[in-house]
Amino acid sequence: MSTSSPNILLIYTGGTIGMIKDFKTGALRAFDFKNLLKRIPELQLLDCKIDTISFETPIDSSNMNPEYWVQIAEIIETNYNLFDGFVVLHGSDTMSYTASALSFMLENLAKPVVFTGSQLPIGDLRTDAKENLITSIQVASMQYANKPIIKEVCLYFEYKLYRGNRTTKINAEHFEAFASLNYPDLAESGVHLKINKTYLFKPNLKKSLIVHKNLDTNIALVKLFPGITEVLLNNICNTPNLKGIILETYGAGNCTTEKWFINLLEKTIKNGIHIINITQCSGGSVIMGHYETSEQLIKAGVISGKDITTEAAICKLMYMLGQNISSNVFKTIYETSLRGELS
Ligand code: ASP
Repeated sequence: MSTSSPNILLIYTGGTIGMIKDFKTGALRAFDFKNLLKRIPELQLLDCKIDTISFETPIDSSNMNPEYWVQIAEIIETNYNLFDGFVVLHGSDTMSYTASALSFMLENLAKPVVFTGSQLPIGDLRTDAKENLITSIQVASMQYANKPIIKEVCLYFEYKLYRGNRTTKINAEHFEAFASLNYPDLAESGVHLKINKTYLFKPNLKKSLIVHKNLDTNIALVKLFPGITEVLLNNICNTPNLKGIILETYGAGNCTTEKWFINLLEKTIKNGIHIINITQCSGGSVIMGHYETSEQLIKAGVISGKDITTEAAICKLMYMLGQNISSNVFKTIYETSLRGELS
């Protein structure tokens, strides 16, 4: 529904943004969402209509899981035609995972879904919550010819709007908690809100929203380190029901050339388990075959995650496994950008 003043749905899942200090213990705990709005009367000054919905029990995002992802997706699905944009308030710890997951779950999304949160609770004098929340709502309200400008899942934090599935939490202390090292910022908030239109995702507007709710969590994330043992990797590769492994390798996708390692990867792939090569580096891309140390991975049938983040790699794997994609096209699809998650 597009009127002159956009309708925005604020979805509160939990996180520091809506927390208060427990007097006795000093620990932060979630509080009633209604109080969040009371604390920001400025919201009434925005040129949009805001409705709110909250998780019955708000959670610290360390407790986030695919069932909650489905809950968020269903809230968006149910309200998709009633609202012009969605702002999801979420703890920062796992925000990049949820934003990545939702980007895959919401196929043909043609409206903004903006994730935000804060490093300090909304009641704190020096809080970053207000700016993050207010600008996120503004971003979600932006329209051109009565249509939303942003048509993807993004993440707004500390004056920057990022593509959600390109982000990583890089700092537990600074207000600038996120980075998108392999993709430019979608917008920057200064005196003006500057949108980098070239970098916005352009979905096929002829197709309608499809919400995918089937995610397969039978996967593993393995970070290589010098000295990693055969027995450990062997155990991981033989985990019952395992369907895929995200392998965090060195640099541009390199790993040890020891015989046992390559043999194990070959055997695992032959057993029908997908192995995806991503880099441990925060920025840059896997280029398989660039060095001798990654050439054997190509021969073994390892999939290249290119410049995907760990968070997006995990979510893409869960999503694709949930789609029952046949193994002969799995590699090609994984290596293709589905939601702008890799270059
Ligand atoms: N532990 C909190 C959470 O992720 C931190 C935050 O909200 O930023 O829910």
